[in-house]
Amino acid sequence: THFGFETVKETEKAEKVHSVFETVASKYDLMNDAMSFGVHRVWKDIFIQRLGPTADTLLLDVAGGTGDIAFRFLKYMHIAGKMSGRVTVCDINEAMLDVGQSRAEKLGFSSKQIDWLQADAEKLPIDDASFTAYTIAFGIRNVTHIDRVLEEAYRVLKPGGRFMCLEFSQLNNEMLQWMYDQYSFQVIPVMGQIIAGQWKPYQYLVESIRRFPNQEDFKAMIEDAGFCQVNYENISFGIVAIHSGFKL
Ligand code: SAM
Repeated sequence: THFGFETVKETEKAEKVHSVFETVASKYDLMNDAMSFGVHRVWKDIFIQRLGPTADTLLLDVAGGTGDIAFRFLKYMHIAGKMSGRVTVCDINEAMLDVGQSRAEKLGFSSKQIDWLQADAEKLPIDDASFTAYTIAFGIRNVTHIDRVLEEAYRVLKPGGRFMCLEFSQLNNEMLQWMYDQYSFQVIPVMGQIIAGQWKPYQYLVESIRRFPNQEDFKAMIEDAGFCQVNYENISFGIVAIHSGFKL
């Protein structure tokens, strides 16, 4: 950016991301299962286990889309007998949130348990120090300025609060990375065409995964935003990674 103006490229990215999720919203959950053979469910389960929410967790789930993380969080609280679970789901895209809301109804969650907030992760309409946990799953890859999102995460967390991110990352083995690339570039867009009738959004998906910083670089960005005790864990050979950090 120069003098506060967004560059053409930045505006284009934001618009592209918006139209991608507008287009895929109704097929989003189905496509996740198809492309990952259902494994995204396991990744999300592990993510919530690592977060290990307690009775006083105040969770903000950013880029929460159709609610997968929020629903898991509430289920975890329920199973653990910590009934007071509440979560705010924030997403920039109305269409994704709409799908989330109707899923929540079908799953029997009450409107007291989930707040739905349409907002940009780069500029959250939320007071400083409001939450004890901030999650973002498969979302940060899509934003225009990762650094601004991290700064906002830091700002809205209370001291002691935890930032956690689940995101596609880089594989720790060249042979596997090669196989994964073949699958991603050749198979995923074709699946998109067959199942969702769209090719382009899934090509975008694959490219955005490729462009996202690797585990170590992303860790350094989280530290730059002020977080302490930053670390990460690779899952499925690094197809995804969970990054975590604390505001002290
Ligand atoms: N967290 C959900 C999950 O794991 O299934 C949804 C992930 S989906 C791949 C990415 C989401 O990020 C989309 O719903 C999109 O609208 C949202 N998103 C993209 N840019 C955003 C931004 N700047 N602020 C908030 N949400 C954003």
